[in-house]
Amino acid sequence: MVLALPGPVTAAPHPLAEGWEYRWGDSPLGPDGVPEWTRAEAPGDWQVIGFPSNPPNREGREQVWFRVPLPEGSWQEPVLYIYSVDIIVQVYLDGKQIYQYGTFDEQGRGRFEGWPWHAIPLPEDFANKTAYFRVFSDYTDIGLWGEVAVIGQSELVLFLLKESLNALIVGGVALLFALLALVFAPLQGDRKSLASLALFALAAAIMLVAESQASLLLLYQPLFWDYLAAGSYYMLPVALALMLAQWLSDHRPRLITLIWQCHLVYLVVALGLALTGLVDLSSTFPVFDALLLVSLLGMTLVLAQRYRDLSNEQQLLVIAFGLFAGLLIVDMAVAHGYLPWSRVPVSWGILAFLLAVVVISLKHYARTQRALKQLTVSLERKVAERTARAEALARREQARVRMLTFENEKNRVLGDIITGLQDCLSLAQAFGLLVQNLPDLCSPLRGALYRRRSGNLFDRLTLWGVEGERSSLPPRLDERTGVPLPSSVPSAAGLTDGESFDRAVTGHLCFWMNVESVDEGVVTEAVVLLERDGLFESEESGYGMARLFTALDQAIQRIGITLSSIALREELQKFSYEDALTGLKNRRYFDQLFEHQCAVAVRSQMPLSLLVVDIDHFKDFNDTHGHEAGDCALRAIAGVLHRQFRESDIVCRYGGEEFVVILPGAHTADARERAETLCRVAAKTPLLFEDKTLAPVTVSVGAASWPESCTSPEQLLTLADQALYRAKHDGRNRVWIHGGQAA
Ligand code: GH3
Ligand code: MG
Ligand code: MG
Repeated sequence: MVLALPGPVTAAPHPLAEGWEYRWGDSPLGPDGVPEWTRAEAPGDWQVIGFPSNPPNREGREQVWFRVPLPEGSWQEPVLYIYSVDIIVQVYLDGKQIYQYGTFDEQGRGRFEGWPWHAIPLPEDFANKTAYFRVFSDYTDIGLWGEVAVIGQSELVLFLLKESLNALIVGGVALLFALLALVFAPLQGDRKSLASLALFALAAAIMLVAESQASLLLLYQPLFWDYLAAGSYYMLPVALALMLAQWLSDHRPRLITLIWQCHLVYLVVALGLALTGLVDLSSTFPVFDALLLVSLLGMTLVLAQRYRDLSNEQQLLVIAFGLFAGLLIVDMAVAHGYLPWSRVPVSWGILAFLLAVVVISLKHYARTQRALKQLTVSLERKVAERTARAEALARREQARVRMLTFENEKNRVLGDIITGLQDCLSLAQAFGLLVQNLPDLCSPLRGALYRRRSGNLFDRLTLWGVEGERSSLPPRLDERTGVPLPSSVPSAAGLTDGESFDRAVTGHLCFWMNVESVDEGVVTEAVVLLERDGLFESEESGYGMARLFTALDQAIQRIGITLSSIALREELQKFSYEDALTGLKNRRYFDQLFEHQCAVAVRSQMPLSLLVVDIDHFKDFNDTHGHEAGDCALRAIAGVLHRQFRESDIVCRYGGEEFVVILPGAHTADARERAETLCRVAAKTPLLFEDKTLAPVTVSVGAASWPESCTSPEQLLTLADQALYRAKHDGRNRVWIHGGQAA
C-alpha cells in the first residue's frame, strides 16, 4: 500500500490493475433512474477481466459494463485518470453517476466525440468502493484503453506533461526541420525532396502534439485535436511515400507513387466524410490502419527488394524507414489490442527518420555545394579559355587589318613601280628604278636586290634596312652562299608553288625575278632576298607570313613581267635598226642618225662626209651565181665596210646592194682616201661560196663633204648619190667626189 502512495517526485498514478469485471449489455434503469447494475447487491453475471477493454465474445455488441474496486490511499483531490475510452462512458459510484463523456440516447447509444484522457474527480470516501463504467462503442474497440489509475489532481498535470515530453520535444524538432526545409526548398535544386521532407516533418510535428495528452491542457477541445491528429497521421504515409519516391527516384518505385496517391485520396475522403458527419472520425481509423499496414508492408517489400542496389545513403534511409514503420505497426497493434497496452515511442521513430533524412539532406547539400564550386571553377576556366580565344581572334583580326593596310600601301608602291618601269627604255634603266623603289616595296623587311652578272653569279645592286655590313645578306650570290638559286641559267621556267614555299621557310625570303627574253627564254635576271622579320613572326605568323610571302611573290612576278616587256622592247628596238642579212645598221637608223649628225656637225662646226657605195653589176652577179651567192657577196662587202671604217664612222645598208657611210669630222680628202681604199679592198676580196671561190665584186662610191661640197649637210646624200651616178657612168669600180673628179 505504501508503494501505491503517489510520491510528489514521481507523480506516478496508482494503476487500477486488479479486480476488474465486465458484463455485456446495458443495465436496466431502477425506479430512481439509476442503472440497476450499479448496485452491489444486484444479481448478475459479472466476469473477471484483466483490463477493462475488449472483453471476449463481443459478437457485434456495442454496450458493456465494467466495474472495479477503488484502492485506499490519501491523495490530494483524487481523480480517476483514464487514458482513453472507446468511445463514450458514464461512471457510477455509490449508485450515483459521477462522470459522463459523450451523449447516451434512450437506447444507450451515442456518437464518437473524441479520445481525450479523462480525469474523474472522486469523493473523499471513495476507498474500497466499486466504480461502475457504462460504455458504448460502435468502434472496433470497446472499453477503457491505455491506463486507468487514481492520482492526485495536481500530480496528474505533472504526470501528463512528463508523459508528453518526448512527443512535444520531437514535435518541436520536427517543426523546426519542417521550417528549415521550407526555407531551404526554394534555394535548393532538390526542391521536391525538401518539400516532401517539410511535409513529413510538419505532419509528424502536428501529429505528435495533437496526440500528446498535454495538448488538452492547452485547449480542451478533444475533437479538434483528434481531427488534427487524424489529418496529420493520415498525411504521414503521403509524405513518407513522396519522400521515398524522390530519394529512390532512380529506381522508379511505382508502387510507392501509388501508395502516396491512395493515402492522399483517403485523407481527403475520410476527413471529408467525418467533417460532414456522415461517419464518425473514429471509424476512419481502422480502415486507415489497414491501408497503412498494407502500404508499410508494400513499401518494405519494394525497399527490401532493391536494398542491394541502393546507395549507402538510400540504405540508411531505408533502415530509418524500417524502424519508423516497425514502430507504427507496433503502435497499431497496441491500439487495436493485439499487443498489451504500452506507450510505443513512435516519436523516436519519427526522430530517427527525420535525422536520417536531415543528415542525408545535409550531405546532399554539401555535395551540391562542392559540385557547384567545381562547376564554378570549370565555368571560370571555360570563360577564361573563351576570353583567351576571343582575344587571340581580336589580335589576329588586328594583325589582319594591319596586313591589309600594309598590302594596300604596298600595292600602291607596286603600282608606282610598274608605271615607272613602263616608261623605261632599257633593262639598265629599269634596274636603276628598282634600286630606288624596291626598298619601299619590301620595307620594313630588310633585304637586298641582286642582279645576274653571268651564270649563277649575282651581284648585289642595293641593300636596305641594314646598317653597315652586319647583314646576313651577302654582297654576291653564288652556289656557295647557300641561297637557293635557279639550277641552271638560263632556266627553263619559273618555280612551282612548293619550291616557293621552301624558299620562304629557309632563313631568308628569297624571290626570283624571272625575265623572258627572245634569245634565252626565261632567265632569272635578279634575286630579291629578304630577312625574315619578327614583325611577322608573332603567333599569327603562319597566317601573316604565308600571306606576305604570296603578296611579295606576286609583286615580284609582276615586276618580272614588266621587265620582260622592257627586255623585249629593247630587243625589238635593236632588231628594227639592224639589217638582218649583214648585221649593219639599216636605212631607218641611217635616216635618224644622219639627221642627228648633221645637227651635231653644224653645232660643232666639224666637217661631215658621206659615202654612197653601190655594188657593180650586181644584177648580173645574181643572175650568174644565184641569189644566195648574191647574199654572200652582200655579207662580204658588209664585212669589208665594217673592217675598213673607224668606230666613230657609221656604216649602214641603205637598201639592196647600196651602202652608206657617215664619216663625222672627215674632210673631202679623208673621204676620198677612205673610199678609194674601200674600192681597192673590195675588188681584192675573194668571195667564198659553197666551197667555191668566186671572182670579187667591185663597188662604185660617190662621196660628198660638208662644208666643201654644199652649204648644208642635209644635201650630202643627194650630192653623194649624184657623184655615185657619175662613178657608174665613168665605168664603175671607182670613186667620184662631188665637186671634184673621179679617182
Ligand atoms: P649597176 O652596176 O648599174 O649598179 O648594175 P646593177 O646590176 O648592180 O644594178 P641594178 O640596180 O640594175 O641591180 C641591182 C640588183 O641588186 C638587182 C637585185 O637583184 C640585186 N639585189 C638587190 N638586193 C639584193 C639582195 O638583197 N640580195 C641579192 N642577192 N641581190 C640583191
Ligand atoms: Mg644599185
Ligand atoms: Mg649596182
